[in-house]
Amino acid sequence: MVKLNTNENPYPPSPRILELCRNMDWGQLRLYPDPAAKVLTDALAAYHGLLPEQVFAGVGSDDVLAMAFLTFFHSSAPILFPDITYSFYPVWADLFQIPYERPRLAEDFSIVPSDYFGVNGGIIFPNPNAPTGCAMGLEQIREIMDHNRDVVVIVDEAYVDFGAVSALPLLKEYDNLLIVRTYSKSRSMAGMRIGYALGNPRLIGYLNDVKYSFNSYTLNLPSIYLGAEVLKDETYFQETLRKIVETREWVQRELRALGFIFRDSSTNFIFARHRSCPALKLFHALRKKHIYVRHFDQDRIREYLRITVGTREEMETLIDFLKQFLDAD
Ligand SMILES: *Cc1c(COP(=O)(O)O)cnc(C)c1O
Repeated sequence: MVKLNTNENPYPPSPRILELCRNMDWGQLRLYPDPAAKVLTDALAAYHGLLPEQVFAGVGSDDVLAMAFLTFFHSSAPILFPDITYSFYPVWADLFQIPYERPRLAEDFSIVPSDYFGVNGGIIFPNPNAPTGCAMGLEQIREIMDHNRDVVVIVDEAYVDFGAVSALPLLKEYDNLLIVRTYSKSRSMAGMRIGYALGNPRLIGYLNDVKYSFNSYTLNLPSIYLGAEVLKDETYFQETLRKIVETREWVQRELRALGFIFRDSSTNFIFARHRSCPALKLFHALRKKHIYVRHFDQDRIREYLRITVGTREEMETLIDFLKQFLDAD
């Protein structure tokens, strides 16, 4: 099986984890974990050069994002997020009965900053955006921030480590900016369920108020310790990222040679359509060969497939199959 459908990292996390597991005092598991997950939030604060009060940790970024929707989005004005974006945003908005509007991405899938200048109850977008893989520059994010001083703006940086610019430097300037990150993609730890938010201490305080009214013990003990430990192995992390980016650049060249059309990816996936072969036909042919990619049955993107960048070997399997299939087609 070649699993290229959920944007997981094909490489294992740092081997430091094994060592910590061997030395961990497992007897501690009888106790509740630290509800503040201080070992982890302190380590993240040091890693990003922030204060511990600027970090909130949760059970994957889905948990952090859902908590942020619940905490910050309760205006009668609609929140704004792109028409093509992470599929969970409308789900949470519906669940929490938050009104929303979805400005249309430009034809080339860019986010248009001026679409986010009107009256609204908050803004959220991923940078780079998912599933398009397109990144925005800091200046465009700054434009959105400058037009939105009285609502919370969330930048979901799930894929930022693969080559986009982080909004982190803007935290000093904007007290209404919340950046959300995850360990599931670049950090190779989707199975641990760790996500976090970075922002002004007041925003982080409000997130904690809501969390403590809901479920205090979110992160489990191994997640807290292992999440802090992997931050110490920057060399391994950078090497993993380098391998994925290198493979991505190779796959992009191969896919273009095979007639696929797409914008350059700033992530660990490629969002592409084929110039003649229908997306669903490719999707089913790949699935028959146990190569799994993602298709979205949604307006404007029905002809696209989202393909995670796996190991070089996995991507060679994909490309070899596509060569054969498209040749015979
Ligand atoms: C994967 C993903 C998430 C969720 O990540 P978890 O930390 O695994 O919950 C959030 N936002 C975007 C855009 C993602 O792609």
